[in-house]
Amino acid sequence: MEAHNKSGADSKTPADGHPCPPSAGCSTEHWKSRSDEEWQEALSPEQYQIARQAGTERAFTGKYWDTKTPGLYRCACCMQPLFRSETKFDSGTGWPSFYVPISPTAVSEHQDRSSFSVRTEIRCGQCDAHLGHVFKDGPAPTGLRYCMNSAVLDLLPDSAGQHG
Ligand SMILES: [Zn+2]
Repeated sequence: MEAHNKSGADSKTPADGHPCPPSAGCSTEHWKSRSDEEWQEALSPEQYQIARQAGTERAFTGKYWDTKTPGLYRCACCMQPLFRSETKFDSGTGWPSFYVPISPTAVSEHQDRSSFSVRTEIRCGQCDAHLGHVFKDGPAPTGLRYCMNSAVLDLLPDSAGQHG
């Protein structure tokens, strides 16, 4: 049996770069199929190191650790909404901290055994970017502390005039 191989029929190969801008709201599967090379091009070196290589920014150096501006924190990689400013609290750690994500599917949890104790890694539910970790020493009502990296967050202030 001969295969019906037509030259140039390999349509599964994605086009160069990501075909949709973040605002296009493309599907989760689309985001997760993005290659390391594509991410490296799209992100700053610091963002790439944190989001794709599970890095951590230095405490008290990120742009949002002490931010109190009302607004919506989105994933800096795919612009999916992650946290509301109302759930942000001053954890004293030097990283932006929240007690609950904006929805249960906004983030995903993964076991992280890279340090002495097992920690729970938090990733973006849409593009799988590493965001930080969750700890069980947060305030009421959840008792959780989502310890995030500023570099992989993007704050959309409420004053930007987006409603609905
Ligand atoms: Zn994302």
